[in-house]
Amino acid sequence: MRNPFAYLHQLEGLTVNDGIYDFLPHWQKESALHKFIRFIADEILMNDTDGPTRVPFGPDHLHPKWILPVDVAMLKYGIIDEPLFLIPDEPDPSETSASEDDPSHFRDPHYVVNACYHYLLDLRWTQVYEDLMSRITDEVFYVMFLNRRALANLNEFLASYVEEVRRDNFDTDEASLSDLFARDGELKRARPPMWARRAVFYRDRGRCTACGADLSGLIDTLSVGNYDHMMPLARGGLNDVTNLQLLCEDCNSKKSDRVVAPSNRYRRWY
Ligand SMILES: [Zn+2]
Repeated sequence: MRNPFAYLHQLEGLTVNDGIYDFLPHWQKESALHKFIRFIADEILMNDTDGPTRVPFGPDHLHPKWILPVDVAMLKYGIIDEPLFLIPDEPDPSETSASEDDPSHFRDPHYVVNACYHYLLDLRWTQVYEDLMSRITDEVFYVMFLNRRALANLNEFLASYVEEVRRDNFDTDEASLSDLFARDGELKRARPPMWARRAVFYRDRGRCTACGADLSGLIDTLSVGNYDHMMPLARGGLNDVTNLQLLCEDCNSKKSDRVVAPSNRYRRWY
């Protein structure tokens, strides 16, 4: 997140061409982290078009069939029972030169790459691919949601794009997005719904993430003020469950609207 242009095929792909608009509506259960994970997973699988990491498949170890990692993933998750696509063999170069004067036998040197690419393009519109994306997203979210520093970095990256949003740039069919803003580059404060407060309360185990004060007796009486936006709204922060952390009143008032790296101290499980 600190070096988005060095990362994979550039994280910019997540936010360019008004991509940031998808992140603006408040308290989406399909959170900013879900969108990020899906983007990365899709990039990794879709960019593997020339089969450099092809995987052997089948009982014949000497002469296996070869499949793409996306099929391996769908098999592992039990989404499909059989591979949907077998990587074809490379054209035989001797065959190409032997039949040079017969164009009908000319073999395309990009034959394998193109076959993989077209498989992946079609696959993207299928329900099995959608199922794979949601399984990967759920699994990675489960792990990453615990790490406040990672979430803060993601939200800081997104905030830099929110800060650039000008309300008069929205088309008429995007007028509802304009209403979400307090002013250019700053979203209105929206009260976190109960599901978001519960998720953050249990993730942070009922304690102030800064000083450790036990707030667990207060779950029903905690005010929304205890749910701090790690990336402040005034700095382009989102109303998103991944942008919240639990703070006691003292720590929250000390923090105010500053950007403070969330604590990277984690309580032991036992
Ligand atoms: Zn505290």
